[in-house]
Amino acid sequence: MVTVAALVSCGQDRSAAAGATVVATTTHAADLARNVAGDRAEVIGILPPNADPHDYEPRPSDAEAIARADLMLKSGGELDLWADELVESAGGDRPVDALLDRVSTSGTRHDRLDKGSAAGDEVDPHWWQSPHNAAAAVKAIRDRLIELDPEGRASYEGNAEAYLTRLERLDRGIRSCVSRVPAEQRKLVTTHDALGYYADRYGIEVIGAAVPALSTQAQPSAGQTAELVDQIEREGVRAIFPESGLNPRLEEAIADETDAKVGGELWADTLGPADSSGATYIDAMAANTQTLVDGFTGGAVSCRPRA
Ligand SMILES: [Zn+2]
Repeated sequence: MVTVAALVSCGQDRSAAAGATVVATTTHAADLARNVAGDRAEVIGILPPNADPHDYEPRPSDAEAIARADLMLKSGGELDLWADELVESAGGDRPVDALLDRVSTSGTRHDRLDKGSAAGDEVDPHWWQSPHNAAAAVKAIRDRLIELDPEGRASYEGNAEAYLTRLERLDRGIRSCVSRVPAEQRKLVTTHDALGYYADRYGIEVIGAAVPALSTQAQPSAGQTAELVDQIEREGVRAIFPESGLNPRLEEAIADETDAKVGGELWADTLGPADSSGATYIDAMAANTQTLVDGFTGGAVSCRPRA
């Protein structure tokens, strides 16, 4: 009797949405999940806009949300390792999916990791920078939601199908914009090594990063910064792209020592608030492409993918 009563009470405590309740760590994971969930399932995002996922301090309310959820969606890899502690403090019995495990991390050019980066053979966790990977993540989320809430199958399939069509259009649009930049001008320098999947997919050469690591939490040595300044000069890099949510002073200092300018801000590891150019995943990828194409060409090419 006690057990039954507890179960009934637990069921009544669930959210108003008919389907599953999902907690997602990053702004990207939450946005992809919301597009599949529609109004059938509830998605609670942990990270606020413009927060750095490499450097997040979980709150007690995060563990409470996980304890009530049907599924915890991690981005995966080094990026949100703090999520494991959260799941532990939430009782440790919630199912956890890491989206990094559901996308393709093979076949990417990791030559940049051989240039003295501290990353070694660590898997690059920034999978969402390729819309192709975002599509794989959406399919994984769709299948998981159907498992958790079989009666919602038609909703989740329809939502995912519509969003996958938009991702395909985004992918074609980005490719079309980047193709307008002469190949020898597609030379990328960012805050940290976050756009490897984007560079691999669209034929862009990663020259280096102000913080030459897959995490924002690394500190560049004076020697690494001097080497990057040399590379920027040697390669004729035109722009160093800072990231939204991070202080651009290192990029400004490097630009001062070279002919490169500080380019527009990129949406790297976080989406932005509702009134920003990076409010959604698709908006952010379109805005990044416009910013990159402008910076690569010194403003000679202006192109924004339809999204
Ligand atoms: Zn990162």
